[in-house]
Amino acid sequence: MQSALQRSEILDRLHQESWDLVVIGGGITGAGIALDAASRGLKTALVEKKDFASGTSSKSTKLIHGGLRYLKQFEIGLVREVGSERAIVHQLAPHLVRPEKMLLPLVEGGTYGKLGTRMGLWVYDVLAGVEGDDKRVMLSKEEALAKEPLLREDILMGGGYYAEYRTDDARLTIENIKTAIGLGALCLNYVEATEFDYDDEHRIEGVICRDTLSGQTFTIRSKHVISAAGPWVDELRKEDASMNEKRVFLSKGVHIVVPHERFPVRQAVYFDVPDGRMIFAIPRLRTTYIGTTDTPYQGDPDRVPTDKEDVDYLLEAVNSMFPEVKLVPADVESSWAGLRPLIYEEGKSASEMSRKDEIFESDSGLLSIAGGKLTGYRKMAERVVDRLIKRLPSEKRKSLKDNFSNEIYLMGGPFASAKAVTLYEQEVADRLEKAKLPREEASFLVANYGRQAETIIEQAEHGTQATPYERLLASEVQFCIEFELASLPMDYIERRSGRLYFNMPSIRPHLELIVGVFARNFDWDESRIAAARDRIQDAIELVTVFPEEASV
Ligand code: FAD
Repeated sequence: MQSALQRSEILDRLHQESWDLVVIGGGITGAGIALDAASRGLKTALVEKKDFASGTSSKSTKLIHGGLRYLKQFEIGLVREVGSERAIVHQLAPHLVRPEKMLLPLVEGGTYGKLGTRMGLWVYDVLAGVEGDDKRVMLSKEEALAKEPLLREDILMGGGYYAEYRTDDARLTIENIKTAIGLGALCLNYVEATEFDYDDEHRIEGVICRDTLSGQTFTIRSKHVISAAGPWVDELRKEDASMNEKRVFLSKGVHIVVPHERFPVRQAVYFDVPDGRMIFAIPRLRTTYIGTTDTPYQGDPDRVPTDKEDVDYLLEAVNSMFPEVKLVPADVESSWAGLRPLIYEEGKSASEMSRKDEIFESDSGLLSIAGGKLTGYRKMAERVVDRLIKRLPSEKRKSLKDNFSNEIYLMGGPFASAKAVTLYEQEVADRLEKAKLPREEASFLVANYGRQAETIIEQAEHGTQATPYERLLASEVQFCIEFELASLPMDYIERRSGRLYFNMPSIRPHLELIVGVFARNFDWDESRIAAARDRIQDAIELVTVFPEEASV
């Protein structure tokens, strides 16, 4: 297990040892590759320039889905692959990838007609191998309204009701990283790959890196490098002088979050927008989130803002399909804006471009993988590691195992089924009560950490903080430092716990406690503590629509 407290030992190992493979990028794609490569027996290191999942992999719609919308573009292969993948990913982490029924309202002038939806959902079920309770059902207007009474009645004709899976993209990434570490990989955040080192024949033999926390630079020795840098993939290809006619096209997607009481949908809805697109409204904990937009992006990929136009577009979409709700900008509590790294296709708009992944291979040996979906990460990893293994000398190839990542349970498990997760949640609630800790935190703990909730509760029992909630929180933060490589408070607030998005009001009252746990562990002085507070303030400003109201 790697702890953020062992950072200097991990850095030493990265530059003192030599590696079979260096993976650049700790989003879901890189995390999946590290897991796959390590499980087959390759000595694997992964570097991430910020925190794991800080790029697109914490900014998605957070669905592990069969891609119904790709059916419209006749991407049959893609629907089939993501359909079967979602079943596998659910099995590998049922606490993190949970079934969620989706309502698709059929409206006059909408994207899908009645017959089209019936056919579409049927084809989707067949392609995605959907079975049992997950199979689609067609609903009458009355049945659709019973499921979601807030829907606009005058244009409603009925509905489709089908299965999706919801997840937390950042947690899925982090559990993949931790599972890869468990299989022998060495993974470190806040390490940026800045250049490549080449031999006399211009073949890559190392990656020059910068520890962004200390500013130190060093080289990792490895003959094989896979770049899974998502929206930054072309930056590294330029660094390697290996750009060709193929390139990545960045499309921005925004989600906004409102308190559930302001948009009290009973369930997830995938609905038509007046401009002909479709968006999601998904209830989650104490909020409902809405998204997404799909617009070309040319700005700084390291700081993607939610613009007023994005918010207005999404609010208008909700108010048009749910007329009683009347959302206004002041209802927006948080948001996130992410970049889809799509493979550019001449003459197509952002929403028409394929979501397929592609591998670019350069003369220097650099393999880059981009495009694709969160849902398909395991298959993407398998494909690119297969490609790499083909290049290895036969002796080395023979020593490696075949891919078996469809059998590797992610950290936090194993659970036999979704039902086993529910039973475990009960156990955790009882355990919390017995330890005089807040029972109502059981479902959050299990959804986020699975069976690792036990470690958090055990530590909390010995906590000295004033209230039971604070004891549990301090223990959770400590767990993220010791077991999840959290180095800065934002790593906890945004990606480990999702508070920045789904529990914004909980941040301010507990900020000093959270920062304090980091300060104690890393022995920070006042200036480091102030810098951590500034980072939090900056992150809150980036995701809130009214920054002046967001001061810490
Ligand atoms: P990223 O997550 O961006 O990871 C790349 C990483 O590389 C980053 O963390 C970055 O910091 C790091 N990096 C870059 N350069 C360097 C360097 N030089 N050195 C070290 N590290 C570096 N898919 C689904 O299946 N379901 C959905 O519901 C869904 N919804 C989406 C909604 C939106 C709005 C968007 C934008 C995408 C959505 N997707 C969805 C797609 C999915 O989110 C992406 O396909 C996936 O997250 C891409 O992951 P990645 O690892 O390739 O990229």
